[in-house]
Amino acid sequence: MDTYRIKTSETVTPPVVTVRLKDGRSVKKVADKSFLKTGRSDIRSYIQLLFFFLTMWIGVDFYLFMDGLEKGVASTAARPPGVEGFLPISALMSFRYFLLTGIVNHIHPSGFFIFIAVLLISTFMKKGFCSWICPVGYISESLFLLGKKIFGRNFTLPKWIDVPLRSLKYVLLAFFLISVSTLSVEELGSFIHSDYNKVADIKMYLFFAHVSAISIIVIGALIVLSLFYKNFWCRYGCPYGALLGITSLISPMKIRRVDQTCIDCGKCADACPSYLPVDKLDAVNSAECTACYSCVEACPVKNTLNMSMRSGVKGLSQKQYALLLVGVYFGIVGVAMLAGLWQNTVSAHEYLSLFEKIGSISHGF
Ligand code: SF4
Ligand code: SF4
Repeated sequence: MDTYRIKTSETVTPPVVTVRLKDGRSVKKVADKSFLKTGRSDIRSYIQLLFFFLTMWIGVDFYLFMDGLEKGVASTAARPPGVEGFLPISALMSFRYFLLTGIVNHIHPSGFFIFIAVLLISTFMKKGFCSWICPVGYISESLFLLGKKIFGRNFTLPKWIDVPLRSLKYVLLAFFLISVSTLSVEELGSFIHSDYNKVADIKMYLFFAHVSAISIIVIGALIVLSLFYKNFWCRYGCPYGALLGITSLISPMKIRRVDQTCIDCGKCADACPSYLPVDKLDAVNSAECTACYSCVEACPVKNTLNMSMRSGVKGLSQKQYALLLVGVYFGIVGVAMLAGLWQNTVSAHEYLSLFEKIGSISHGF
């Protein structure tokens, strides 16, 4: 009988047999029931909730900071630095500025560190940021699950629309990358230290606090479409996800399938929110894989799908992946805090005077 290896030190007899049905078809079955999985892990939902509440907390703190600004009693200490995680273009500029000068800017340093953490995660652990940390990803997922409850299923766009639409996020990303990469060090420095960049988070707040009719229509349309189509915004529109998808292509860690124990049931592919043909692949190399573990959870056979550095090893369980992801993220945030680089250096007085003329501050491009 064949044997296969699941750990470098362990070989196991395949628990799978091929059975011929009356109609002549052959199907694979698990012969040894001890190889069938039992139970599911909810760890990803807990981590998503953790980051969602963290985002809410940042939102409330920032609201209080803005309330102070509007009353003319701002305090820089009241401003939550984590809000800079919502300024990815500024972070991209900070990143390039750092690569060219070795300097971590003091205007949005936390945005820079969050960007580094997210890039590191995607480069080594696939796009885990999207399905574990990002609050927009969490909302998108909740919406399509709600849509599935309401309509009994989610829908897919025909390939001739899906493929060109998926390239939209790469076009947006290319626009931002080209714009940032053509700036000289002096231009980057002057943007980073500009009034516009200093109040970019305040402008973002005001955008949502006084949202225009057009923005309401666009956001409303995205919400409705997200009920029908899985991760509509993430799949078609998010340039941040596109960037992480590209860097995730070199990730040594990826979903791998053990062909010897796979029973070709297709449950992994059915469960994949990115519609990847996991059941046909030995390793999932796609930029669309968000390391969500849905395929691993759906697979009925133990050790057949795993997130690992190479084939033939057992890989990381969902809990181990969660620990690593959270460890990398908060590890980098912690290092930035300990180094005194987390909080920016824009004073309360400067925030107050910038806020007084906020309407006249533009990016100048
Ligand atoms: S279901 Fe599997 S292949 Fe699909 S996105 Fe999630 S981890 Fe990747
Ligand atoms: S879920 Fe996918 S990997 Fe697991 S047995 Fe079925 S087809 Fe094979």
